[in-house]
Amino acid sequence: MPLKTPEEYLDSIKRPVNLYMFGKKVENFWTHPIIRPSINTVMKIYELAQMEEYKDIMTAKSHLTGEIVNRFTHIHQSTDDLIKKVKMQRLLGQKTACCFQRCVGFDTANALFSVTYEMDKKYDTDYHERFKRYWIEVQNQDLMVGGAMTDTKGNRGIRPKDQPDPDAFLHAVEKREDGVIIRGAKIHQTGFLNSHRAIIMPTLSLREGEEEYAISCGVDTNAEGITMIYGRQSCDTRKLEEGKLDIGNFKYGGQEIFVIFDDVFIPNENILMNGEVEFASELVNRFAGFHRQSYGGCKVGVGDALIGASALISEYHGVDRSSHIKDKLVEMIQLNETLFSSGIACSALGFQRPAGNYEMDMLIANVCKQNVTRFPYEIARLAEDLAGGLICTMPSEEDFNSADIGHYLRKYLDTTDEPVKNRFRLLRFIENLTMGVASVSYRTESMHGAGSPQAQRIMISRQANWEEKKNLVKTILDIDK
Ligand code: SF4
Ligand code: FE
Repeated sequence: MPLKTPEEYLDSIKRPVNLYMFGKKVENFWTHPIIRPSINTVMKIYELAQMEEYKDIMTAKSHLTGEIVNRFTHIHQSTDDLIKKVKMQRLLGQKTACCFQRCVGFDTANALFSVTYEMDKKYDTDYHERFKRYWIEVQNQDLMVGGAMTDTKGNRGIRPKDQPDPDAFLHAVEKREDGVIIRGAKIHQTGFLNSHRAIIMPTLSLREGEEEYAISCGVDTNAEGITMIYGRQSCDTRKLEEGKLDIGNFKYGGQEIFVIFDDVFIPNENILMNGEVEFASELVNRFAGFHRQSYGGCKVGVGDALIGASALISEYHGVDRSSHIKDKLVEMIQLNETLFSSGIACSALGFQRPAGNYEMDMLIANVCKQNVTRFPYEIARLAEDLAGGLICTMPSEEDFNSADIGHYLRKYLDTTDEPVKNRFRLLRFIENLTMGVASVSYRTESMHGAGSPQAQRIMISRQANWEEKKNLVKTILDIDK
């Protein structure tokens, strides 16, 4: 069975890469205290896939090989697969309380499966077979794959071709007999460093004359010409401190990388789109749809952890019986389950593409993500309300442990029978999720991940079927008769 253990995964990413953080080259990145929690998070995916209890949700039977594979490498074969995907993401959000990074390549693969098929039908190319060969390797080796979409984009008001710097959008700078050379940068690259491979995609719809930007291809994350710069997150240097409690969620974390592709060679067998401009928008939209569905799972799972922390801190403060506290907790549940509802609904209403794979309902997936741009903010607001102001005025762990002053903090911050240290832990956890490192995973990513709010509104408008709605009322009122 091609399922890596967490330890095998860890060993497999121990490779030299060209990574920078704080202006310095990082060697042996897997030992770095700022990076390590993000690796622990990915290891959790591999761990759960080994467990009998989660087998049904974490693994699937590959339609390409017949083998049992990690669900993160599966091509959806039914609406049941789509539903299990969202449930799996909720589970992982619950277990890690952060972004677990493996969904981007998963969603890319499911979009490319149908887009490569349709390109071949139109152009008699062989992208679909190439993709299948590439993806069978991914499944058989249980590889983690990143998905590289977002370009730096330069001046947003002008097309890629007209940018003063032609590299503002990643493009093919040279076509060779055996492949292409690509140049550009991809930003907000979730889990790129922790991935074995990544699949590059265009970032927007393209037109005739923009063929060099219509490039999709697989690339090894340690390929020659790739430079990675580690993205900073709020309070990240707390991970460099002696104690670990000030971090909040000290076990797990997300990871975002700025990736530069400086003349990277891509061999023909890894090229999955090369100049077919009219398919760029299909790839962008299908990927975005799958990733917007994903948010109906992952952010809900993280929300579960935050709601749990809010309920617990209410107990520790002795106010859990108060009706307005209960009401706030109920509101958090209602918001969170509403997100889950649209994640499940867009999966249940999925449909089969001619390529044979299943895709989510595009309208509801976009509604799901649009809600995600709002509800986690409200849930975070309620969590801060319940936690109280101490989440941003509390002294450090070192003060708590100090022989000179620690006793004051233990005396004056004591509330109920619960040890003060546990109150401290919980407050830091809530701080971490609402305004610390994990707020990237829970808040800002809820806003901008899988496309900013306006991107969903455009899709909602396109998918809304206005004429059908107008006709409904015309029929009822006998208008036009
Ligand atoms: Fe997965 Fe959510 Fe992270 Fe995207 S933001 S990679 S969907 S966990
Ligand atoms: Fe994301």
